[in-house]
Amino acid sequence: MSSMDENIDKRARELAFTLQSLMAEVEYQHNRHERCIGCGKKYKQHYPDGLPCQSDDEIKPYYKRDRWGNLTIKNP
Ligand SMILES: [Zn+2]
Repeated sequence: MSSMDENIDKRARELAFTLQSLMAEVEYQHNRHERCIGCGKKYKQHYPDGLPCQSDDEIKPYYKRDRWGNLTIKNP
């Protein structure tokens, strides 16, 4: 792959993250079960704000619920 192709891929991915973040905020009440393109976890699992990761370099910690319903915060 040429460096120009890699650049385009990187820009496309950045754009995808930007769109994901925008839509996540606009449709906050309706997208809790959507999966983040950064980490693959549901939006609602993201700590602390329930919004998806901003980029591949900033994967957020996430909430994990155990079988007793306790929430713990995990690092990616
Ligand atoms: Zn994520």
